[in-house]
Amino acid sequence: MGNVTGLRCLGCGADYQQAPIYVCDECFGPLEVRYDYDAIASAVSRELIESRPRNLWRYRELLPIDGEPTIGPYSGCTPLVKADRLARELGVDELYIKDDSVNHPTFSYKDRVVSVAISKAIEFGFTTVSCASTGNLANSVSAHAARAGLDCYIFIPDNLEQGKVVGSSIYGPRTVAVRGNYDDVNRLCSEIADKYGWAFVNINLRPYYTEGAKTYGYEVVEQLGWRLPGHIVVPTAGGTILPKIAKSFDEMRTTGLVEGDTPKIYTAQAAGCAPVVRALHEESKTIVPVKPDTIAKSIAIGDPADGYDVLDVVRSSGGWGESATDEEIVDAIQQLARCEGIFTEPAGGVTLAATRKLIEQGRIAGDEPIVVSITGNGYKTLEAVTGALEEPRVIDARLRDFDNLFEGLHSNRDQEMVGAKAAAG
Ligand SMILES: *Cc1c(COP(=O)(O)O)cnc(C)c1O
Ligand SMILES: [Zn+2]
Repeated sequence: MGNVTGLRCLGCGADYQQAPIYVCDECFGPLEVRYDYDAIASAVSRELIESRPRNLWRYRELLPIDGEPTIGPYSGCTPLVKADRLARELGVDELYIKDDSVNHPTFSYKDRVVSVAISKAIEFGFTTVSCASTGNLANSVSAHAARAGLDCYIFIPDNLEQGKVVGSSIYGPRTVAVRGNYDDVNRLCSEIADKYGWAFVNINLRPYYTEGAKTYGYEVVEQLGWRLPGHIVVPTAGGTILPKIAKSFDEMRTTGLVEGDTPKIYTAQAAGCAPVVRALHEESKTIVPVKPDTIAKSIAIGDPADGYDVLDVVRSSGGWGESATDEEIVDAIQQLARCEGIFTEPAGGVTLAATRKLIEQGRIAGDEPIVVSITGNGYKTLEAVTGALEEPRVIDARLRDFDNLFEGLHSNRDQEMVGAKAAAG
């Protein structure tokens, strides 16, 4: 049933048969999955897709598996939330949150790429799966491996949030915390992948894994009523999801599922780890790796593997990039929660803070549909915001105590309003 015709090197164009490989023997360029798009175009239709169960495999013709999917029966099909209160605060007409903070089973966009990678690992006959991760990928690989009954090794930096660590360990993998940052972890894992022959979802299965990210874009289009948005803002860590969203839009046009202009695509990074945004701002052809220093740990990758793809896609779409300081990240997390009842982790704060700047700069037009990509859940990273929030008021279980508190809060508020009026007048 598969439509994959093989792998092709993006550097020199050499063709390969499907295998758990990720770099070209000739030129060390990255490999990408190739499809028979004519076959896909005659197989798919909007009606067929809409008739299928609400999970990411409803787009299976465009995903790189050959048999029936075995993993991810509840992943994907996350809400596209029309964010009217937030739109009003930002001064724009039509704003949507694509909310992967409620993805299944581990509350981030990584459940998409892992569903595809582990289905593929099972097709290839692997019995051990692994990954180098900033946290969310580890959570997802651990959970999916548990469900599939596979052995699992997880490699993470030694400074992650407790929610991200426990969010893997609970599923029973072997977790290895490496002293250093993600880039150190990743370098070690490339050597381990070569030596141990495991399925590293984001190393030797990378060509298949990254394809899972396309489902984020397919869903946006389907949920907009088979329409392309005008603008989409996407966080960048290693640079997987942003170019794959662009690819998803191209494929939907190639196969006749949607028509219209390519949306403008914008990258968002934390100010403490913004090598791609910096290259955009400096109009540079090269990405200079950085040492990350930000509360947005899930996207703290100083040397992004697919950073150049991000640059190409952003530039050719007519988009741009912005970064956000830790303070702006926390403020944006709170704004999203306050306006829309959605609690995102720092990566989502980065994306919203960047969106705000892009609107203020006039780069994002307020009268075209805008999609803000929320990719992870705030319950995993409570440390990031606790210091910024109002502490609970502690009282005894007596009505009089609450009456006093309520009165106090009210007279405070009245005073604040009197003060505000005086200041305004
Ligand atoms: C992994 C991740 C991203 C994006 O990573 P890419 O490597 O650029 O695809 C964004 N947000 C969250 C929460 C993540 O975990
Ligand atoms: Zn090559």
